[in-house]
Amino acid sequence: MTVEFSYAGSPARIVFGNGERKRLSEWIAKSGAKRALVLSTPHQKADAEALAREIGDVACGVFSGAVMHTPVDVTEAAMKVVAETQADCVISLGGGSTTGLGKAIAYRTDLLQIVVPTTYAGSEVTPILGQTEGGRKTTVKDAKILPEIVIYDPLLTYGLPVSMSVTSGLNAMAHAVEGLYAQDRNPISTLMAIEGLRAFARSLPTIVKTPDDAEARSDAFYGAWLCGTVLGTVGMALHHKICHTLGGSFDTPHAETHAVMLPHTAGFNAKAAAKELAPVAEIFGGSVGGGLWDFAKAIGAPLSLRDFGLTEADLDKAAGIAVENPYWNPQPINRQSIRQLLQNAWEGRRPSE
Ligand code: NAD
Repeated sequence: MTVEFSYAGSPARIVFGNGERKRLSEWIAKSGAKRALVLSTPHQKADAEALAREIGDVACGVFSGAVMHTPVDVTEAAMKVVAETQADCVISLGGGSTTGLGKAIAYRTDLLQIVVPTTYAGSEVTPILGQTEGGRKTTVKDAKILPEIVIYDPLLTYGLPVSMSVTSGLNAMAHAVEGLYAQDRNPISTLMAIEGLRAFARSLPTIVKTPDDAEARSDAFYGAWLCGTVLGTVGMALHHKICHTLGGSFDTPHAETHAVMLPHTAGFNAKAAAKELAPVAEIFGGSVGGGLWDFAKAIGAPLSLRDFGLTEADLDKAAGIAVENPYWNPQPINRQSIRQLLQNAWEGRRPSE
C-alpha cells in the first residue's frame, strides 16, 4: 500500500464524560482565566444562568442573545457586554448558534473560548465561523476561531428533543460523509469519519425509542465529536455547498436541511467516490444514498424539501446559486444535474444510487 498525506491535529483540549460539566471551574482555573462571560440562546438562558452560578465568582455575566447564523449585530451587542464586564474568557453553552457567537467574539478579541455543547452540530471543534450581515452569509477560517477547551457532557443532551437529536445527528453525519471523499482527507480523518458514522448508526435508533438511554446519548455525542473534527480538518464539497445555499438564500432550517439533503448528495457522489463511500453502504446497508435515506426514514427524519415551504421556482434559483462559483466535488456538477438533485430532494424520493 502506498500512502501519501499531510495531517495537522487540532490544538484543542477535549474532555468527554457524564458529569464533566461539574469540572468546568477546574478548567477555567487551569486556563488562567479570571472573568468568564457565559453565552447562550434565549431558549437556554436559565441553563446559562445556572452554569454561571455553578462557577461562582469567576462568572462576570450572562449574555443570552445568541441566534442562528451569527448575525453581526448580535455579535456587536455581545461585544459591548464583553467590554463592560472585562471578560477574559467566554463560555458557550448550547448548540452551533451559541458556539458561533463565542467564535465571533474570539475572532475579534482572541479571548479564550470554552464550549459546553448541547447538540451534535460539531461547530465547537472547527476553526470556521459563518456570520450574516444584511442577509448575506460569509465564512471565515482562522486559528483564533477554534475553541481552546470543549467539555462534552452527555447528560446535557438528554433534554435535546428527539426530532432535534435526529436532525442534528444527520447534520453531523454529513460532515463525516463528505470527509470520506475530501481531496485533503488523511488516514486519521477517514478513521474518525467511519467511527463517527458507526456511532450514530448505533445510537440514533435507540435515542428515538428511549431518549434518555445513557449509552446511546454518550455514543451519539462521541459521534458528534468525531464528525465535527472531520469537518474542522478537511474540506467539504457539494453537500455543504447546497445546504449553505438553501439556508443562506431561503432561510431553511439548518439541521433539517442537512438531514433531507444527505442521502441525495451522497447518492449523487456514490459512483465517482465509490471506494471512499463504500463504508457508508456497509454501515447503513443497500446503496450509499438509498441506505442513508432508509436510515433517515426509520428514525423519523424529514425527507422532503417541500416541507420547508420551498417552491419549484426556488429550486431553479438555488440550482443557479449552487453552481455560481465552481468548487471541487467528486462527481462534476452542472446546473441541470443539481436542479434534478434538488427536485428529488424536494419530492422526498429515495435515491437509487
Ligand atoms: P442551535 O444552536 O441553533 O440550537 C437550536 C435550538 O435548540 C436553540 O434554541 C437552542 O437553544 C436549543 N437547544 C440546543 N441544545 C439543546 C438541548 N440540549 N435541549 C434543548 N434545547 C436545546 O442549533 P445547531 O443545529 O446546534 O446549530 C446551528 C448553527 O450552527 C447554524 O447557524 C450553523 O450554521 C452553525 N454551525 C456551524 C458550524 C461551523 O463549523 N462553523 C458547524 C455546524 C453548525
